[in-house]
Amino acid sequence: MLMAKWSKFLSKDTALLKTSEIRDLLKLTEGKNVISLAGGLPDPSTFPAEDIKNITDYVLQNYASRALQYSATAGIPELRKELVNLSSQRGITGINENNIFVTVGSQEALFILFNIFVDPGDHVFVEMPSYLAALNILRARNPQFHGIPLTEKGPDLDKFEEELRRLKAEGKSPKLLYIIPTAQNPGGTTLDMEGRKRVLELASQYDFLIVEDDAYGFLVFEGESPAPIKALDKEGRVIYTGTFSKILAPGFRLGWIVADEEIIHNVELYKQNVDLHTPSFTQFIAAEAIKRNVIQNNIPKVRQLYREKRDVMLQAIEEYFPKDASWSKPVGGMFVFAWLPEKIDALNMLPKALERGVAYVPGSSFYYDYSGRNTMRLNFSFPPKEKLVEGIRILGQVIKEELA
Ligand code: PMP
Repeated sequence: MLMAKWSKFLSKDTALLKTSEIRDLLKLTEGKNVISLAGGLPDPSTFPAEDIKNITDYVLQNYASRALQYSATAGIPELRKELVNLSSQRGITGINENNIFVTVGSQEALFILFNIFVDPGDHVFVEMPSYLAALNILRARNPQFHGIPLTEKGPDLDKFEEELRRLKAEGKSPKLLYIIPTAQNPGGTTLDMEGRKRVLELASQYDFLIVEDDAYGFLVFEGESPAPIKALDKEGRVIYTGTFSKILAPGFRLGWIVADEEIIHNVELYKQNVDLHTPSFTQFIAAEAIKRNVIQNNIPKVRQLYREKRDVMLQAIEEYFPKDASWSKPVGGMFVFAWLPEKIDALNMLPKALERGVAYVPGSSFYYDYSGRNTMRLNFSFPPKEKLVEGIRILGQVIKEELA
């Protein structure tokens, strides 16, 4: 336990920050013989290390004077150009380099976006559950949250519209929707095209911004990955975030924003204060990796591996979880989300599971109001297949004992 020696000096904003449950958990399991279904790490076998080695040599030989130098806040022109091309592969067309902004992971993109748009008390819509680290950025902004429950097919848009109507009747305006329409983290759901159109229509009708997190857009391994909402956007009210973390290497800490130029300008002003610019060196490597089709050639391998791992996990859950539990059947991404019988409190149960050698993330941390106590998120991308089965077997036992 740390002493609270300096806490009296902390700013009020810092005092609002919550530690990430995932990080605390990982710390707990470090160095121990625990099967972690808790993290969100890509499988390291998907990193194209040899290609990166060759590209790194090439970049140093040809671009050292720029790759090791300070660079523009919005990103190096070579990468912004390549990201226009990569975006078109997700169906986003009619944009140019000025609509692209490079960030330190999509995490920084979300941090900057929520900071430039959200004031305390603003009405912000999020899915229930939604991505923990994005919720934590939002929590620090102190907005008025509105939750949209997830169904098997993505957010419940009837409930969403109902809430928008209610707000309007009270004379209040929504400001922003944060949504992960494809292979949602943690829910594992994907919103269909019709739903995407409806979300955009609602945004136009009720006049709010959409922050669309497409972290897993390239990682759909069953059926087609639906085009992002941004691909349908004619008004510029959708702000899209993408990441290299799942398709190249998370250690590069590279992400990007696609947005209207005016919004890009505001992001730029903010980022100047945060870190001046994203590291030039990794940007040169990533630009070259897109140019040489390293990423495009790698994606099918990642999809294949994660499809296999998902199948292993789903089969184990089917076998070992109680019959009255339900769980997502994700068509992409890295997680299965499970809804357990109401009697289970996944947060309270965690120490027992850890003791037995398996870690997961209690689902409540993915709910803005910490509800969803009977839910859990399970990662299938990182553990080897045999550990996935073993982890789920142990977890199934722990759950059944808890129910007995
Ligand atoms: N959004 C979602 C939905 C994620 O799952 C993640 C990573 N787990 C991120 C954003 C942030 O990823 P990064 O900063 O590595 O791009």
